[in-house]
Amino acid sequence: MLGLTARRLGARAAAAAAAAAAAHGRLFAAQRAALSSLVYVETKGADGGFDEGALSAITAARALAGPVTAVVAGTGAAAAAKAVAAVEGVAKVVVAQDAAYDHALPETTASLLKALQAKEAATHVFAPHSAAGKNVLPRLAALLDAQQISDVVAVESEDTFVRPVYAGNAIATVKSSDPVKIVTVRTAAFPAAPASGAAPAPEEPAPPVDAAPLSSWLGEDVAKSDRPDLASAKRVVSGGRAVKSAEGFKVIYDLADKIGAGVGASRAAVDAGYCDNSLQVGQTGRIVAPELYIAIGISGAIQHLAGMKDSKVIVAINKDADAPIFQIADYGLVGDLFAIVPELTEKI
Ligand SMILES: Cc1cc2nc3c(=O)[nH]c(=O)nc-3n(C[C@H](O)[C@H](O)[C@H](O)COP(=O)(O)OP(=O)(O)OC[C@H]3O[C@@H](n4cnc5c(N)ncnc54)[C@H](O)[C@@H]3O)c2cc1C
Repeated sequence: MLGLTARRLGARAAAAAAAAAAAHGRLFAAQRAALSSLVYVETKGADGGFDEGALSAITAARALAGPVTAVVAGTGAAAAAKAVAAVEGVAKVVVAQDAAYDHALPETTASLLKALQAKEAATHVFAPHSAAGKNVLPRLAALLDAQQISDVVAVESEDTFVRPVYAGNAIATVKSSDPVKIVTVRTAAFPAAPASGAAPAPEEPAPPVDAAPLSSWLGEDVAKSDRPDLASAKRVVSGGRAVKSAEGFKVIYDLADKIGAGVGASRAAVDAGYCDNSLQVGQTGRIVAPELYIAIGISGAIQHLAGMKDSKVIVAINKDADAPIFQIADYGLVGDLFAIVPELTEKI
């Protein structure tokens, strides 16, 4: 490519171009040497809980050469920081212990991350592709005049990332030229970073940030459940439209409880009011990749498959032998769910 440029520009211009290219190369090498990442950790409550999706974001950040600084923010930050500091690959934990960062309000949290990005000269900011990550990072990207790279499933290099598009029917490899890369991570695609067993990473308090609260948290109405959380459950049992009613969903809950599974649903089941909408799996719901996914009375529309097709083993129960779900199922049972599922639950 340089040879072609030399023929076009003449010898002096080519020499200048070569010098510029060399300088660019040195700059690029310097940038490589200075890679560093922030990972946003959303806290849950005051007693040290945090969104474990951040552990997958830490794994993604570790694919780069630079140090990883975890930013733990919220009322429970000091307690959560203890656990985060012990995670493998975390070089430092910044503790933003302040109720202003509770509930991941983007106005305050994005301002905090912007200040820390500047302080740490971070080249990358990662967060899980969770409600909080999807809420906070776009505002941070706007503040930094960068284009967010969303829902990545692989980190190829410091500027190149892989992400599904068209409900997972195509995979795009995207290259960003922004100086700071703002990245949300599909947690199902990266294993959680484990606790290191080594000495915990150092902690330091976050600097005060002057972020005028443009919004305030009024409350939330969260369905309470003792079942495993859908996003992290190793097994998921999902029901579809065929379950027919909220009462009919009992067969789904019974099987799930028998095998210690989380419960999911198709959008048709959610829209019909058979279960809470937090259970929806799919393009516009949760994305899961458990070891075992049992789809009951679900046809297998592409929007549903977008949320579960990376599951390790897929079992489908459907009375229609030609239902599309069977095309991706490892095991299939053709028949009436109201006969098969109670029998299965009883026999397990
Ligand atoms: C923009 C957009 C986003 C969407 N996002 C999502 C999403 O996130 N998640 C999602 O799930 N959908 C989503 N959808 C909807 C999706 O297209 C389908 O309409 C939906 O997934 C269908 O749900 P279902 O499989 O439960 O119902 P159906 O397609 O009606 O399938 C019911 C299945 O049950 C079987 N069945 C019936 N009776 C029995 C019985 N007694 N025993 C056993 N099997 C039986 C039938 O053979 C059939 O295969 C989206 C659609 C759009 C346009």
